[in-house]
Amino acid sequence: MLAKDNQRIKRLEREQHALTEVAKTITSPLPLGELLQAIMDKIIGVLPPADIGAVMLLDQTSATFRAEAAFGYDLQILRKVRLREGESVTGKVFQAGSTQFLDTPEKVAAAMADMQPSNRSLLERSLGTQDLPRCTVATPIAVGNKKYGVLVLETLQGALPFKDEDIPFVQTLAELIALAIDRARLREKADAIREAHKADHMRSELLATLSHELRLPLTAIKGYASALLLDEINWSREKQIEFLGMIDEECDNMQAILTDILDSTIIDVDQLVIKPLPLRLGKIVHEVADDFNRRSKIHNLLVDFPSDFPLVEADPHWIRQVFRNILDNAIKYSPKGGLIVVRGEARKTDVMVSIADQGIGISPEDLIPLFEKYSRVISSDTYQIPGTGLGLPISRAIIEAHGGHIWAESKAGEGTTISFSIPISHRTRTVKEVT
Ligand code: ATP
Ligand code: MG
Repeated sequence: MLAKDNQRIKRLEREQHALTEVAKTITSPLPLGELLQAIMDKIIGVLPPADIGAVMLLDQTSATFRAEAAFGYDLQILRKVRLREGESVTGKVFQAGSTQFLDTPEKVAAAMADMQPSNRSLLERSLGTQDLPRCTVATPIAVGNKKYGVLVLETLQGALPFKDEDIPFVQTLAELIALAIDRARLREKADAIREAHKADHMRSELLATLSHELRLPLTAIKGYASALLLDEINWSREKQIEFLGMIDEECDNMQAILTDILDSTIIDVDQLVIKPLPLRLGKIVHEVADDFNRRSKIHNLLVDFPSDFPLVEADPHWIRQVFRNILDNAIKYSPKGGLIVVRGEARKTDVMVSIADQGIGISPEDLIPLFEKYSRVISSDTYQIPGTGLGLPISRAIIEAHGGHIWAESKAGEGTTISFSIPISHRTRTVKEVT
């Protein structure tokens, strides 16, 4: 009598320990598949009669059951087994909605007798034997009115078969699994809703910014064109040229905005294709800088590249775009003018280029999201400066596609330095420049 009580107490202690272990696994932030596998591994470790087992989940679209985690089976092969409702142990337990304890090999064989031949051969292959389990406990994985699948625990070779008193414990384990699935599915749903809201919000914000950005040059173009078309005024040749020059400039602005949008969608869909050529960066900077020098009279652009600056393998189109984006910022965000220095430095394995301005600068907390899409610093200094917050993220995508890095250093009120690096490949150490 005493020995039996002792045995019972030991079993209860073991079960409690096992439940704590499984519950601990359930609260871990693993993705569902890994979580179920971890739970399965734990169950087999704490429940000696079970030497094989599987979590079979219902796939709503195909209305079949599929192994999501398993022990003692080759999961890759077992996953190909697709059981229909009513088929084999899993299908029957799900249909009945109650636990089945098949305590003899004959009962197991009888429950599995209606299995589709293709499923049976996959099952045997995944087990590595034609032997059937000698004893099976299968219980629905369900919580409330939600039925997710079936937990199947079996004795294949072990000498210790399941006993009646193991059943409530297995049912508790199945309940815990159901809760884990429930939580993971709810989390997935919440994430999807949050993402959709975020995307929606971003889209409307982007549309608002873009329409604003495009309306400015468009209004100017419309104004100059309407003025030129006025019948009652005879514009002088100089005035006409001045107005046409303004229209031309505003068209360039619109084109720049549209290029940004296009580039950013290319990055969104991961279609940034780099065609690297041996390139002299200093030459490209000079070309872009000359263009910018013509645009601003209050800024002084200085290019400082050593004469032995090495060639790098880079895509001239995209690199030009990076220089344009960074120089455009250097000018835009130094409204009082000042010196802008573009410096090149050759290092052992890469080259570094920095663009330093003496503008309004950026505070440390605004530096953190600087390269994120649509990130713009909103302050009394910047609210009138047009922009969409795409220049830097595009530049980062381009530089990273070249295997380099880009970063920013700044002091509010003193100026900003944007730097990037591009690796020097072995090829460019020896080849001649192409462009
Ligand atoms: P876009 O380049 O798409 O026309 P944008 O200039 O606002 O718009 P980014 O180039 O990505 O976008 O720059 C993001 C933000 O970082 C800017 O809005 C600005 O607040 C800040 N920033 C970037 N460069 C500088 C700089 N040189 N000095 C001060 N602030 C800067
Ligand atoms: Mg910009």
